[in-house]
Amino acid sequence: MPSSVWPTLRRQLRADLPPDEFRTWFHPLRVASEDAEQLVLEAPNSRFVAALEEGFRPIVDWAIADLKGPTFQVLFKSSDAVRRPARPATSSRKPSAAVEDDAAAGSSLNPQYRFGSFVIGNSNRFACAASQAVAEKPGIAYNPLFLYGGVGLGKTHLLHAIGNRLRGTAPGTRVVYLAAEDFVNDLITSIRFERMPAFRERYRTIDVLLVDDIQFLAKKERSQEEFFHTFNVLYTRQKQIIVTSDAQPRDLADMEERLRSRFGSGLLADIQAPDLETKVAILQRKARQLQSLELDTDVALFIARQVHSNVRELEGLLNRVIAFASLSGARLDLDFAKEALRDVLPEQDRPVSAAQIVKSVAHHYGLKVREIKSKSNSRQITYPRQIAMYLCKQLTEMSYPEIGRLFNGKHHSTVMYSVEQIERRRAEDERLAAQLERFARQLS
Ligand code: ADP
Ligand code: MG
Repeated sequence: MPSSVWPTLRRQLRADLPPDEFRTWFHPLRVASEDAEQLVLEAPNSRFVAALEEGFRPIVDWAIADLKGPTFQVLFKSSDAVRRPARPATSSRKPSAAVEDDAAAGSSLNPQYRFGSFVIGNSNRFACAASQAVAEKPGIAYNPLFLYGGVGLGKTHLLHAIGNRLRGTAPGTRVVYLAAEDFVNDLITSIRFERMPAFRERYRTIDVLLVDDIQFLAKKERSQEEFFHTFNVLYTRQKQIIVTSDAQPRDLADMEERLRSRFGSGLLADIQAPDLETKVAILQRKARQLQSLELDTDVALFIARQVHSNVRELEGLLNRVIAFASLSGARLDLDFAKEALRDVLPEQDRPVSAAQIVKSVAHHYGLKVREIKSKSNSRQITYPRQIAMYLCKQLTEMSYPEIGRLFNGKHHSTVMYSVEQIERRRAEDERLAAQLERFARQLS
């Protein structure tokens, strides 16, 4: 029967897997049935099915989630017909990362980083939408796309997702992913061995260039110059360029002005720290995808609260909890999670105290605790005071009246107003947002 998704899925898998593995394991599959919820693929025998499940389940799930959303399923069944038994895979059984078609510039894409495995929340919605738009219409929608944000917030994930999507939907497109560091190393080697013409040629024949962590070029003038020319050639030819960075272009220290202005000329999309709900969703999604485990919400909430923003740290805690649970065979409930994380979370019994908050904020703004708590309404004092109130609300369990009492008996409506003020400013003022983030990190 004709299938709508199988050819696309197959193309995607071909891009993700070494050729011999793809040939061995996916070439023999036939579509048995397909409807709105599932695609059933028929394999030669039950051993073949078992090997597929063991070696390729995650890769198939990621690929299909990317194409059809997270609920669509791909099932394998063995055909009844007698066929020759499957030959064992020629190379390793484990699916490995994608390999470049030709061994030119760039490194491989991680097949796990897909749009389908990326959890969207307010903090990353725009960046994700922009990435999808670019993957849809490379070179046309937004060029360059500049993604920026703090460590572990999903920049690299989105970059690979764009590449993976393009490998599936536009197989002829030459997509190259590279860390800025690779670019620098490649440049150094090319200079040393006098291979600059080949270097330039390599980078200038790319259709979609994905460059990760561009801040690595800071202070490296020759690399910046070379990158600037590469950028211009690609840009003029309407080739898509996507760059990630830990800061927005104008804050990239020690980067040439002309490069910063090129980066700023396309679309800028920032990724913020995920909120609590998004962290919970990420944890539950990862647990389901990687371990087929339904993580209790109270467990997910507990883990989410331990990490301020870095999703990689979140995953680290999740992996630890899951590993402990599967080693001990115990049920993963809240008590178990607390126990499993006790050693890695020395701070967990020590919630942030209001006194600490007031002290750090006062100190940061060169005030005495007495001053920040005083009745003075001079701006030098009210602003830090509002920040301290805001942080008390965010980082402790205190109510508005309780916070008011801490600040020399301020009325709770004053506290509410202050918190709102800071919240509003935070949304508009990136410096303030960054400062609040630093306070939160330093305090917890
Ligand atoms: P960055 O490049 O911004 O430092 P990464 O892209 O390496 O961060 O993300 C760190 C880890 O967190 C990766 O394993 C990534 O898959 C995961 N991650 C980050 N954000 C999300 C998200 N929104 N949904 C799912 N996983 C995420
Ligand atoms: Mg990264």
